[in-house]
Amino acid sequence: MSMDDANTAHRAVPRIRDLVCAPRHWVLWQQRAGLVAYCLLVEAVAVTVTVLTGLATPVRLGSLVMLVALAGMGILHAELSRQVERLRRRVNATPHINMTSVWTFAGVLLLPRPLVAVLVAALYAHLALRSWYRLQRVPVFRTVFNASLAMLTCYAAGGVLSALGSDGMADAVARGWAGTPVVVAAGITYFVVGALIALPGLTITNFSLRVLFGNWMDNLLEAATLCLGGLTALALATEPGLVVLVLPPLLVLHRGVLIKQLEIAATRDEKTGLFNTSGWHDLASAEIARAARTTDSTFGVLMVDLDHFKRINDSYGHLAGDAVLKAVAGTITDAVRDYDSVGRFGGEEFVVLLPGIAHPDVLTIAERIRAAIAALVVNVPLDEVDTIVSGLSASIGASMYPAAGTAVERLLHAADTALYQAKNSGRNKVVSTLNAA
Ligand code: GH3
Ligand code: MG
Ligand code: MG
Repeated sequence: MSMDDANTAHRAVPRIRDLVCAPRHWVLWQQRAGLVAYCLLVEAVAVTVTVLTGLATPVRLGSLVMLVALAGMGILHAELSRQVERLRRRVNATPHINMTSVWTFAGVLLLPRPLVAVLVAALYAHLALRSWYRLQRVPVFRTVFNASLAMLTCYAAGGVLSALGSDGMADAVARGWAGTPVVVAAGITYFVVGALIALPGLTITNFSLRVLFGNWMDNLLEAATLCLGGLTALALATEPGLVVLVLPPLLVLHRGVLIKQLEIAATRDEKTGLFNTSGWHDLASAEIARAARTTDSTFGVLMVDLDHFKRINDSYGHLAGDAVLKAVAGTITDAVRDYDSVGRFGGEEFVVLLPGIAHPDVLTIAERIRAAIAALVVNVPLDEVDTIVSGLSASIGASMYPAAGTAVERLLHAADTALYQAKNSGRNKVVSTLNAA
């Protein structure tokens, strides 16, 4: 897992020399206080544990050779998948799957603790310099934070190995069948701790639990990555040449992750993360098909258009306008139920699909959205000063299936007509096709 914050993705790239020479200008200090504190805490713990275990652990030549082999394979993997990774980060600013775990988890099973930290540092530094730094302009603090999280995850998995009286793969192989549960326990620890310690960083940056744990597919991919890490360690501990067999499935897996992200991106609006026109349309069609199979099934469609949005752009600029659109998207999503679908039809027009409810409840939700947008205060960081945008309002048109129609276009048309009425009768209100004049 890695922590990413989409709103820092488009900042200008600072030069490394400037970053090192002027800590005052680090992007880290622009983050919320809680996040800064958590970053510093994680980094401090990672450094402390590394130094303490480093002083207490003698390093043997064999371990150093293993470290070089793992770092070399990790770097080769990163180089071979550069193009896939470039696309992957372009289509989605918050990738869940971190394929580097193949090498870091193998490191847990093969290396003494301080060398695992060296491996993590080497792999993250390479990734930061070769791909992340240029591609998505990820601030340096985030790479350092993610590397520290990875180190702590490795220490936790290593701690479980020690608790089970094992020092890793060589010992597990020597134990025969009894070695398997030891490796699996380390893998499960890596999986769970990796997700949990990323949690505070993610929630502080407004990511939901659903985003953190992703869906089943994300978790399966994470598990598959760790499985490959275990097999890598097994090969290196027993028949080192066979480790090359890991690379082809890893590259295919990596490409599979990209394809999945492309599929998701094709249904999403890039600016707000909501469904785009085609993604929302597909969901609405599926809901109609579902409702048509049952009698008495009704659902609602809302069309939400911000009032006088052009004035926001004119007064504060387009970037502030975009920030307001993102905030409104979040406000609408928070105001509806988990299984309602919110989409953006371009511009400052949003649509909401409200399955399984009748007219009065649709109006209640529409009113809740209207009130939440009216109460919204958006803090837009512009040129190092925060601009507060408030006093927003939206007009909302509502239509009901099947009263207003039994095709998506008919329902949208009806909601649009009601929206037009709301605009014409003073804005900042909800009008439904059933009570429109
Ligand atoms: P009304 O109350 O009649 O809806 O007034 P309005 O100003 O909102 O008018 P209208 O809906 O016709 O205009 C939409 C404006 O939204 C025009 C355009 O400048 C702005 N806009 C559309 N898409 C974007 C976007 O992606 N970002 C920003 N910042 N502005 C956008
Ligand atoms: Mg408008
Ligand atoms: Mg509009």
